Amino acid sequence: MYDYLIVGAGLAGSVLAERLASKANKKILLIDKRNHIGGNTFDYYNSDGILVHKYGPHIFHTNSKEIFDYLGNFTEWRPYEHHVLASVDGQLVPIPINQNTVNALYGLNLSQLQVQDFFNSKAEKKDQILTSEDVVVNAVGRELYEKFFKHYTVKQWGLDPSELDASVTARVPTRTNKDNRYFTDSYQAMPLHGYTNMFHRLLDHPNIHIMLNTDYKDLVDEIKFQTLIYSGPIDAYFDFCFGKLPYRSINFKSQTIDSENYQPTGTVNYPMSQAYTRITEFKHLTGQKHEKTSIVFEYPTAEGDPYYPIPRKENMEIYNRYKTLAASEPNTFFTGRLGTYKYYNMDQVIAQSLALFKKIMQAEHLHIVH
Ligand code: FAD
Repeated sequence: MYDYLIVGAGLAGSVLAERLASKANKKILLIDKRNHIGGNTFDYYNSDGILVHKYGPHIFHTNSKEIFDYLGNFTEWRPYEHHVLASVDGQLVPIPINQNTVNALYGLNLSQLQVQDFFNSKAEKKDQILTSEDVVVNAVGRELYEKFFKHYTVKQWGLDPSELDASVTARVPTRTNKDNRYFTDSYQAMPLHGYTNMFHRLLDHPNIHIMLNTDYKDLVDEIKFQTLIYSGPIDAYFDFCFGKLPYRSINFKSQTIDSENYQPTGTVNYPMSQAYTRITEFKHLTGQKHEKTSIVFEYPTAEGDPYYPIPRKENMEIYNRYKTLAASEPNTFFTGRLGTYKYYNMDQVIAQSLALFKKIMQAEHLHIVH
């Protein structure tokens, strides 16, 4: 008899397993249908001995000291600030678009104030920002929108930016200064020995029993438990009764190159004609020293593992129907990117799980075990 059955050994499920086991002395069965823990953050040493991320590059960044400190209980950190270049008009220029991008692209030498004037002169001001196209065109105008965002978004999402919620392109801001970092969060770092190592430490507790290669549907009738925490896709849980929630997937094509370096930054975006969206070279992220290097190309696709919930009004309407159904499911909590159909970063998923842990503690009148 377990206190909790937790479905999904990604961040959402694993953080809850750790908290409930170590702080509430609960007995946990944590299952995943994949053959490994870590969910989409899973990393491993490939046959050439290079540490790679199986499901695409994962860079940890957060503004929350609480979350950074929490993960710090299970890993040492390697300071790392991610830089991304975009291949545009035959040049590699920084993205998010900034002063350096504009000056390189147009052969100018504009100051920060002049860059703002440049954006203002190009911007097509909108009364209402509703779509991903509105966000960019309103800020920097149509030309930069076409060069950096339009085709990239069509490749990534299979939709024109005008059909996507504003939140998608709003994730990539525009700057007038020379800050070439991709993220500006206060805490930016990579787990020193990788994500999988961090997960092993997170889940190393006698109250946590892990079963891999185990699908929830195949197991649920055979196991006794009091409460279910489900971080798999919410539509699958309800047998798709309101239809399938659309997800975007990616085919990852990896390659090891017989040379120490491949590209100048961790990631290079290809916003124009190539079928792939970006190439990432893992050694920039991990800091590993090796005579060879491994890279991954990302080819977005509609079919495959559910990676990105697609933020659109019609999809949220379907999700809200599932959410209402979920609220009436006894002794069951839905969480994580798939369980709540939200385009969350790692830190947001951890925050969600820590908040759910507090809610469970209060609901069950439990006290933290020290
Ligand atoms: P997941 O990691 O998807 O875990 C869910 C788990 O549930 C999976 O392991 C799955 O196998 C399991 N599962 C599903 N159904 C069942 C079932 N029926 N039975 C048993 N098990 C089941 N975030 C960042 O902060 N920085 C980044 O740089 C970043 N890059 C990303 C790049 C890509 C390509 C992708 C796809 C995501 C990226 N993210 C990034 C987001 C990050 O991956 C997520 O925020 C985080 O992994 C979500 O954790 P989760 O536990 O909710 O979901």
